[in-house]
Amino acid sequence: MPGFEVFGAEERKQVSDVLESGVLMRYGFDGMRNGHWKAKQFESAFAERMQTQHCQLVSSGTAALTVALASAGIGAGDEVIMPTFTFVASFESIMMLGAVPVLVDIDDTLTLDPEAVEAAITPKTKCVMPVHMCGSMADLNALQAICDKHDLILLEDACQALGGTYDGKPLGSIGDLGCFSFDFVKTITCGEGGAVITNNDQFKINADQYQDHGHDHIGNDRGAEGHPTLGYNFRISELNAAVGVAQLDKLEGILKLQKNNYETLRTALEAVNGVTFRRVPEGGEENYSFLNIFLPSAELTEKAHKALSEAGVDGCFYWYTNNWHYINGWEHLRNLKSLGNLPSEIKDQIQNLNQTDFSKSDAWMGRTLSFLIKLGWSTSELNDRVEKIKTTLRSVL
Ligand SMILES: *Cc1c(COP(=O)(O)O)cnc(C)c1O
Repeated sequence: MPGFEVFGAEERKQVSDVLESGVLMRYGFDGMRNGHWKAKQFESAFAERMQTQHCQLVSSGTAALTVALASAGIGAGDEVIMPTFTFVASFESIMMLGAVPVLVDIDDTLTLDPEAVEAAITPKTKCVMPVHMCGSMADLNALQAICDKHDLILLEDACQALGGTYDGKPLGSIGDLGCFSFDFVKTITCGEGGAVITNNDQFKINADQYQDHGHDHIGNDRGAEGHPTLGYNFRISELNAAVGVAQLDKLEGILKLQKNNYETLRTALEAVNGVTFRRVPEGGEENYSFLNIFLPSAELTEKAHKALSEAGVDGCFYWYTNNWHYINGWEHLRNLKSLGNLPSEIKDQIQNLNQTDFSKSDAWMGRTLSFLIKLGWSTSELNDRVEKIKTTLRSVL
């Protein structure tokens, strides 16, 4: 997944364009900036690559989720359905707006189970937020049908699946809104950064205003701009955007390398008895940032994870006990530990997460191992690695 592996002269050149003019901000200072508009340049190139009308660059993937939700008018007391397996940004971005996260089970796609989504809908539900974890996607046709039926917003968190497709369309471009992260470990990086994409003209206007204190960006005097609505500061800096301009040019090469390395590992593991693979919904193509496998039981999976680590295989994740990505590890969320008082809507409406039955998610997550696919492995490094993984898994199974 990591674009940082290919950071080089192209990124330095883009950043030095900005350093030479000294205009580190994406707005204004037209005369001083030597014609460089890195954030704008990234936005139009990214919108084109994602086959969408609009892109709004922001300061992080987490900010992108918050801005996307806000731009769709989601606020206090609105319920947003999200999966039990995701990054903490999912509930953080929802709760930031006073909206209420509703956690539901995942299935063998390791993303939202459409049946669980439908069962969780109430009159307060406003949005369904599938998270395309570890390079592969949710069953978007099924989720789209549910959203159409109940008049809900479909917001794709594609932060870990940049470059993957579904029915030939880029992941993130299928729902009403799609979000991406360009943090340091994502498929391409800005250092820190994120993006919202949409084909909805009003959502784009809302996102543009919300991420910059409500500024309407009309005219060329920033100080005199109108503020049609309340906003916040989720702007990206011009320096970070410049890194992204160079990284975006490298995306196709990154995806090609990932696919090659993924396929080598996958072909080898197909020959190991007891290994099965995560289901990719029909019509979907992964971005190949991870290879995700199931082992026959949670006990064996835990054992295999330990054995792989002892054998020196890095980048192998057992999310079930990893405190970042699965509800098991979110003690702070389950017990609503916050610095200040939380909005009453959240306190009143949130599920009792300590008592909700997520055994269906447990059944998949307990058996899941994910292997990070790196770009920089030489052929012999890759072959050694594949051999080591194969031998270790065979010794455990
Ligand atoms: C990385 C990530 C985010 C948040 O992105 P940041 O840029 O780190 O804030 C959100 N969702 C998922 C699935 C992610 O992997």
